[in-house]
Amino acid sequence: MTAVSAIKKFAPLKAIVVTGIISIVLVLAGTVGLLVLQGKLHEDVEKKQACYLDLVAFRGKLIEFELHRTHPESHHLFSEELPGLSEEPAGVILFMYDKLAVEMKAAGFNNLPVLHAARQNSPAMLALENFELFRFELDNTIQKVDLESRGAADKLVDINHFFLFFILAILLSLSITAGWLLHNNYRQTLIPLAQLASQLKLINRNIPESIHDTAEEMKKELTETDSSSDITQIAESIMSFCGDIEAKNKKLDELHIRDEKTNLYNYRHFKERLITEVERAKLPGDRVSLVMIDIDHFKRYNDANGHIAGDKVLELLAGIISSQCRTTDLPSRFGGEEFALLFPKTDSLTAWEIAERLRKIISIEPFPHEKHQPEGQLTVSIGIATFPADATDWYTLINNADRALYKAKSAGRNNVVTFASMNTDSTTTG
Ligand code: GH3
Ligand code: MG
Ligand code: MG
Repeated sequence: MTAVSAIKKFAPLKAIVVTGIISIVLVLAGTVGLLVLQGKLHEDVEKKQACYLDLVAFRGKLIEFELHRTHPESHHLFSEELPGLSEEPAGVILFMYDKLAVEMKAAGFNNLPVLHAARQNSPAMLALENFELFRFELDNTIQKVDLESRGAADKLVDINHFFLFFILAILLSLSITAGWLLHNNYRQTLIPLAQLASQLKLINRNIPESIHDTAEEMKKELTETDSSSDITQIAESIMSFCGDIEAKNKKLDELHIRDEKTNLYNYRHFKERLITEVERAKLPGDRVSLVMIDIDHFKRYNDANGHIAGDKVLELLAGIISSQCRTTDLPSRFGGEEFALLFPKTDSLTAWEIAERLRKIISIEPFPHEKHQPEGQLTVSIGIATFPADATDWYTLINNADRALYKAKSAGRNNVVTFASMNTDSTTTG
């Protein structure tokens, strides 16, 4: 499964919850991380700034001390900050230096090497000949500490900015994910659902006529759209449901037009088609032939062998009749032991040829118990009439085919008679 299809399968609601949880965890982790970092930087900045202030103060005190050394009369200018030590300017300097050294170490700066060496060797040397050197070192260090302290402060501001961007990025990705999920939900669920609903309305309206077409159209539309797997599944079940309905409708249609005993077309369907075909045959040059078949001495067969055996003969005959018909012909059971065959676009002679072939096949077919029949075999008589040559409408066509059949019976049975030949008195006997 590809990553995209895996995401697609992932329910949108679950995806929103998971994305939300991930974002909250990220924001919490980011906030905690930032607070820790901020605390450290803040401490660092404070240390560096304190260091800077003390360096400046120390520098002032050193200058003051130097002034006192070179101009003792300015003693009153000494500060009163460190009572008890003001009497001992060198002591103040030493005290301040020691404090400064601790602070600088804590702030991560190197000690002032020149001053430190002087402090190690002799406290008295601190503010004597080396004053210029001390001041130079102090000035450099002050500058360096100032720079670093500003840098640390800038870093703190940068971190705050970064955190702000981090939160904005999380919010942005959260909104993009939610938007994307909503969009997908709309495209894969809501739109297909609306299409499904409209197609279902159509199916409902079209049952049973064009349920197949409507279901096919729905399948096409829903496979063209980027539907979610749930919607596709619903559409597929509806389509299979439509297929079932369609198959059942077909069965119902067949039952409606078929004769139960012989499975040939029933009289209702035969009559509908006869009327239609006669109407069509009214076009110039067109025609339709009607072939009526009646079993000879069938009453005798039933009486001798029973109705169940008679029914079996009807069934066997229907099979033979169907096998001899063309796909465009309409073999049907007219009623009782009579069959009506409709041959569209067929003239009387062709109809006679088919009927004659059929009569012969039936006469030589070994039916059960047929030896009890008058001729020792089961036979049929056939009458044919053709529209428009032999009739003016469907009703007369049936009557004239019947008359030809009657003629075939009266001529000795096992015959084919065309209505057209009745005037010339021509019949065929097997
Ligand atoms: P013909 O040669 O003059 O046609 O003689 P026939 O005995 O066939 O003529 P008739 O009309 O007197 O008898 C038709 C018989 O067909 C009567 C009836 O018992 C039988 N029949 C009609 N429908 C059915 C059916 O569905 N099943 C069975 N077994 N027999 C049927
Ligand atoms: Mg009959
Ligand atoms: Mg009969």
